[in-house]
Amino acid sequence: MKYRAFGKIDFKVSALGFGAMRLPTREVQGAGNRLDSNIDEPEAIRMIRHAIDMGVNYVDTAYGYHGGQSEILVGKALKDGYRSRTRVATKSPVWLIKEPADFDRLLDEQLSKLQTEYIDFYLLHSLNGHSWQDTVLKHDLLSRMEAAKKAGKIRHMGFSFHGDHDSFVKIVDRFDKWDFCQIQYNYIDIENQAGMKGLKYAASKGLAVVIMEPLLGGRLANPPKDVRTIMEEADPGKSPVGWALDWLWNQPEVSVVLSGMSTIRQVEENIALAAKSGVGKLGKRELDVVSRVRKKYGERAAIPCTGCGYCVPCPSNVAIPRNFSIYNDGVIHDDLDGARIAYNNFFSKENHASNCVKCGACEEKCPQGIEIMDWLEKVDKALSK
Ligand code: SF4
Ligand code: SF4
Repeated sequence: MKYRAFGKIDFKVSALGFGAMRLPTREVQGAGNRLDSNIDEPEAIRMIRHAIDMGVNYVDTAYGYHGGQSEILVGKALKDGYRSRTRVATKSPVWLIKEPADFDRLLDEQLSKLQTEYIDFYLLHSLNGHSWQDTVLKHDLLSRMEAAKKAGKIRHMGFSFHGDHDSFVKIVDRFDKWDFCQIQYNYIDIENQAGMKGLKYAASKGLAVVIMEPLLGGRLANPPKDVRTIMEEADPGKSPVGWALDWLWNQPEVSVVLSGMSTIRQVEENIALAAKSGVGKLGKRELDVVSRVRKKYGERAAIPCTGCGYCVPCPSNVAIPRNFSIYNDGVIHDDLDGARIAYNNFFSKENHASNCVKCGACEEKCPQGIEIMDWLEKVDKALSK
């Protein structure tokens, strides 16, 4: 494993961090489908422990991941001596905070679920300009965080972010005690959200920067043929995941790249890549390849949905991310006929885009700023029989 600087903190973090938001799940007996909250516990524990055995020392979870079950699973995985070998990050669900005392109540609940005395890295989850103003500042959560640190419940203070660049800078500048932040960043998202400018800005202020969505919800792991061809011609032995992660690790401002791993194979592949990673490993030729790949993606009109699920549940039962992923798959893989089959034959009509009554509730929750209502209309038009 390779280790990297973590802002101003005296801690060398593994290049790869374990994101516990896409853990393996089991089928619900008789129902024939997998429930997000039904984690395959033995396999998930085996994966996390294997990663730690191979040198990963940063495990990231959140209050809401896997319907609240991820923190509990991480707590179990870190028993038998694993807790002392890794640092744990988790996040305060700021959207559940209606009064200041909620912050402390939720933190105590998280400590109990994680079966730990303290949390190494505590983040205010998924901030944007609105939640910053209407929750964090309104309820003075920064003072609450400082008090929690003084009380020994958390060790380092940070935030994860899904807003626009200007809000990001405002949040970084407002509090001089931030130790770190977590941003969505990958070779496609260089101008989206905090973006490359935000990465460099936060690092210049001494914050460690944790990277999430390095593969854009897994999409960059399976590029369409014309994108893949560019990569294969440049280096036949290098996988799309290798290109995406190497591009991140090449940048000195990046501290740790989180990967939400779902199989032991992914754990092994990512660890092998991390072991060869480093700043400055990509030369001009490789960086040009990534630029051409980015351009090629840009030419394909798909919905920039990462499948994060913040927009659901919808009061009209529209499974927004699923509608978008069926459509995107059709566009990206040049197979709208296949997408139509998936939409009409293998996807419950109750969850179709056509059920949208345009109440607008979902759009304000989307960290990607997607015009969900317009896109749903287009999706239904393109895919319904
Ligand atoms: S706008 Fe449509 S998809 Fe969004 S929450 Fe309302 S009904 Fe659901
Ligand atoms: S539409 Fe937006 S909020 Fe919903 S899953 Fe996609 S990216 Fe997430």
